[in-house]
Amino acid sequence: MARSKCPSCEYHEFEAVQVTTKTGQKFCLIQCVACGCVVGALDEVKITNVIKIAEKKLSKFLENLNRKVITACQRKNS
Ligand SMILES: [Zn+2]
Repeated sequence: MARSKCPSCEYHEFEAVQVTTKTGQKFCLIQCVACGCVVGALDEVKITNVIKIAEKKLSKFLENLNRKVITACQRKNS
């Protein structure tokens, strides 16, 4: 795998910096530790969405699991 390098100074280390715009939008910028050259940006909305999707999947999974447990209990009782 190729090593990531800064396009400006060719340094190999990067950091994530959280930035909030005037409108309150939050971004996560990936910048070079050495010169601060921004090499990427993450939309926090996207990050939140990913978490939300994961949460939805998990709750659905738990719901299914609950149903299975209930069905199993009912079978035992009858
Ligand atoms: Zn750099």
